[in-house]
Amino acid sequence: MVDLKGQYSRIQQEVDTSILNVVKSGAFINGPQVSEFAVELQNYLSVKHVIPCANGTDALQISLMALGLKPGDEVITPSFTYIATVEVMALLGLVPKFIEVTPETFNIDVSQLESLISPKTKAIVPVHLYGQCAHMEEILKIANTYNLPVVEDTAQAIGADYTFSNGTTKKAGTIGTIGCTSFFPSKNLGCYGDGGAIFTNDSELAKKLKMCANHGQSIKYNHDIIGVNSRLDTLQAAVLKVKLPHLDEYTSARNKAADYYTKSLRRVNGIITPKTAANSTHAFHQYTLKLDGIDQTGLRKYLSSKGIPTNIYYPIPVHLQKGYSYLGYKKGDLPLTEYLCQNTVSIPIHTEMNNDIQDTICGAIKDYIQN
Ligand SMILES: *Cc1c(COP(=O)(O)O)cnc(C)c1O
Repeated sequence: MVDLKGQYSRIQQEVDTSILNVVKSGAFINGPQVSEFAVELQNYLSVKHVIPCANGTDALQISLMALGLKPGDEVITPSFTYIATVEVMALLGLVPKFIEVTPETFNIDVSQLESLISPKTKAIVPVHLYGQCAHMEEILKIANTYNLPVVEDTAQAIGADYTFSNGTTKKAGTIGTIGCTSFFPSKNLGCYGDGGAIFTNDSELAKKLKMCANHGQSIKYNHDIIGVNSRLDTLQAAVLKVKLPHLDEYTSARNKAADYYTKSLRRVNGIITPKTAANSTHAFHQYTLKLDGIDQTGLRKYLSSKGIPTNIYYPIPVHLQKGYSYLGYKKGDLPLTEYLCQNTVSIPIHTEMNNDIQDTICGAIKDYIQN
């Protein structure tokens, strides 16, 4: 699904030097590269604070901790997401209230947001799924009315731009109260292991987030709150420092590949190519097709027999996962989410795609449908 080796080969020398510098310095924990990268990412995102941490899941957990959410508090979030978004809520004793997504963007359906808000609601966690922003303007409008913080899960959408109706543009993850991202190798800005970061423009909250990520301390051995240990490795920061200047070029390579797929597949019967939201650019972390009357398993098996990998993000929605049955959801509660899990398929997209590979993939999809 990705070509990490090909991407590495184009920046090999810079990456190798950067990694070697860390090894030679011996500063493996909180070396200067970590704070340098944080500042560089702040500048890229035009956000006041970037707090690096160990992975995207931790970023989400630390955010909910820093907001002071308490067991029993309700959080509105989609079920059509990676488990991490909801897992951290469960770990903190929070109660996820699942919201449907729109069939066009796969992001939360804002028309249902207000009806899910109760006196217990304490936060909204939209997920910018597959690389484009949820309808943040409307989410913020409702959040402001009810005085709710918004935590953006932007693990898949780093680099995407969101434009408000007044023309203001902001980077994904810098729109709400807090933004969370992951530097997992296959993410759009991936390191060579685990990594993550938290963004905010709120300086008080930034202090709290830093404390939460560092054993609840701001002064060594003074643990004012209960925290966790979540650091970005210096080695990973060294890799990310090299890759960040390439992020926009990576995003446009993904967009070019997506355009090529769309041109080739948009008239194929039974295939619905991805729509771009009106107010967000798309970082195309995934290129996800909707199937209309085409067997998901059959298509995947056929493509696999031709050596073409595919994936489903995600085959079982969170509300129907065994480990989350205690929440009391059942089949049919989120029909659209359930439909999408069974009628979407993601095909390879990355920074190293070329027309030949894409022709082969599209040809195989057409072969399956026409035969
Ligand atoms: C990848 C991902 C995460 C978790 O990131 P990790 O770094 O793997 O912990 C969270 N949410 C979404 C939507 C993701 O895609």
